[in-house]
Amino acid sequence: GEKQTIDVNASIHATLVILSHKIREKQLTLDKSFSSDLVNLQTECQGLNQIWTNLLDNAIDAAPQGGTLTIRTWTEQVRTGPQTPPRANICVMFRDNGPGIPPEIQSRIFDPFYTTKPVGVGTGLGLGIVFRIVEQCGGTLRFTSAPGDTEFVVRLPSTRA
Ligand code: ADP
Ligand code: MG
Repeated sequence: GEKQTIDVNASIHATLVILSHKIREKQLTLDKSFSSDLVNLQTECQGLNQIWTNLLDNAIDAAPQGGTLTIRTWTEQVRTGPQTPPRANICVMFRDNGPGIPPEIQSRIFDPFYTTKPVGVGTGLGLGIVFRIVEQCGGTLRFTSAPGDTEFVVRLPSTRA
């Protein structure tokens, strides 16, 4: 795809604005720590807003009333070989303090139409879409989950602007 300069922090912020009604309704505390290292990174990744929307939507759904959403961004240097210069990954973490994802369903959450939400609330498509976008971007998506602490981490390749 066409290379474009993006500000990942700004795009996450824009998603938070769109979801602010839902966040306010649940009286969630936002614990944001956005790294300024992300400013002026280039990526060919398309569909970032969809990634943030789907992961935040799940975190908001999972968090208890008055709970906490934690969002962190950072960069990490990746060296792919002795001759190639290191490049930066853009890393984003979403954490909620909800009940967690039971171990017995963890292998199914990326399946299309898999949902534990009531009919009309969940489509079961969110995580499958996130996975596909991240994969197309050459990134990775990892999660860890325990009661009270669920974290999704997205890593996307970038080049310095
Ligand atoms: P949907 O949100 O429509 O159910 P998703 O693909 O976004 O579909 O998520 C699939 C399922 O994964 C959810 O129904 C839920 O059971 C589980 N899940 C996703 N994120 C979380 C989370 N942060 N905490 C607990 N469960 C989650
Ligand atoms: Mg969802």
